[in-house]
Amino acid sequence: MEVKANLAEINKRITAACIRSGRHTGDVSIIAVTKYVSIERTKEAVESGITNIGENRDDGFLKKWEEIGSSATWHFIGSLQTRKVKNIIEKVDYIHSLDRISLAEEIDKRATKKIKCFIQVNVSGEQSKHGIEPSQLVDFIEQMRKFLSIEIVGLMTMAPLTDDEQVIRDCFKKMKQLRDEIQTKKYEHAPCTEISMGMSNDYEIAIEEGATFIRLGTSLVGNEL
Ligand SMILES: *Cc1c(COP(=O)(O)O)cnc(C)c1O
Repeated sequence: MEVKANLAEINKRITAACIRSGRHTGDVSIIAVTKYVSIERTKEAVESGITNIGENRDDGFLKKWEEIGSSATWHFIGSLQTRKVKNIIEKVDYIHSLDRISLAEEIDKRATKKIKCFIQVNVSGEQSKHGIEPSQLVDFIEQMRKFLSIEIVGLMTMAPLTDDEQVIRDCFKKMKQLRDEIQTKKYEHAPCTEISMGMSNDYEIAIEEGATFIRLGTSLVGNEL
């Protein structure tokens, strides 16, 4: 497995998806999700030109951060327990999983700099998924205004687990509509320019529908578990 070769193939596909949808490749950033791989593989990704790294657990995050440090940009992408916030807050650049007031309170309490946050949205309405219901989103974002350490940079979602491409596409389309709706409000604390969506199986659809950050694990760095 060569990360560099995977990245070349993925970049080709990103370019093709951008051309199909009239977008610029520079507007789509890749986050390498390293939760299934070693520190060595993570370093290989950085050497191949990856600058964004995503982890979904605090222990995995810290292990990789200690080896690679601030030469990369660090994304926390998984559901975040309130009591774990203090472990990562000094090191994280983006949190993709802000989904409740209590978590915002803890981030705001612990942060010593502005933390860029994505609000996780449960577009598909599946019970098993974390995230704010679309109908609650505007209200939730308005409640974020008082947390001065939090900047709402965008929205994040995970598509439903299905082979039905149309269902996935509809989910991503809905995300773009929500993002556009928030942007019309011109909130100072919530510029909401970004959309974090698309994983190994669905990133091309996500790009066609407006993703600005795609989160790639298996297809980019593999799975060593
Ligand atoms: C694991 C994970 C990914 C990457 O998954 P792949 O299918 O391996 O690309 C992306 N986003 C989140 C939130 C994840 O937990």
